[in-house]
Amino acid sequence: MSNQQPTPLVGAASPQVGRATGFELASPGQPNAAAGIGSALERNRAFAAAGGHQGAVVFPNLRLFVITCLDPRVDPAHFLGLDLSDAMVVRNVGGRVTAEVINDVAFIDQIAGNALPDGPLFEVAVIHHTQCGAGALADDTFRRRYAERIGADESSLRAHAVLDPEATVARDVERLRSAPAISPRVSMSGHVYDVLTGLVKTVIPADH
Ligand SMILES: [Zn+2]
Repeated sequence: MSNQQPTPLVGAASPQVGRATGFELASPGQPNAAAGIGSALERNRAFAAAGGHQGAVVFPNLRLFVITCLDPRVDPAHFLGLDLSDAMVVRNVGGRVTAEVINDVAFIDQIAGNALPDGPLFEVAVIHHTQCGAGALADDTFRRRYAERIGADESSLRAHAVLDPEATVARDVERLRSAPAISPRVSMSGHVYDVLTGLVKTVIPADH
């Protein structure tokens, strides 16, 4: 994996670390010379020059498919120590198992099933986390405005909130296990990442 450390949005010594969702940490008023794709592209040049892309394979080394939150604190390349080609990763708000995510798993299920006629295919690990910003969907005003903005049904968005990550991850693993589009050759597990300790706790062990 990359040896580069994640760049904090603001100074690491912010006194507000640990508050609610963490969005309070972003200070749009403070200019950040490294903001945007520019500095990331410089890192890409170094990555390619060092041959970081070489030896990558399309079927993941760990036979692992991770579903987790898009929160920048929750990057599985870092907290799971994933190297290039180790896992497939889908990230969205909260790391929720939506209809679209089920379709993505089914897609890989079908491709892997064609390549491997028998036996287990891969494991899907759903990882929710503490202090998740998806908790904002439990706020009536926020949820109403967001539902209006995206043209969604407000009541369905309430269930998308992550307030108790152990409970929501259990629900999402169940949703995957009961999805007819996913074959029994795919196993599922559920976990919670604690952003304060850096540790992952397994809530639902893999079924096979
Ligand atoms: Zn989150």
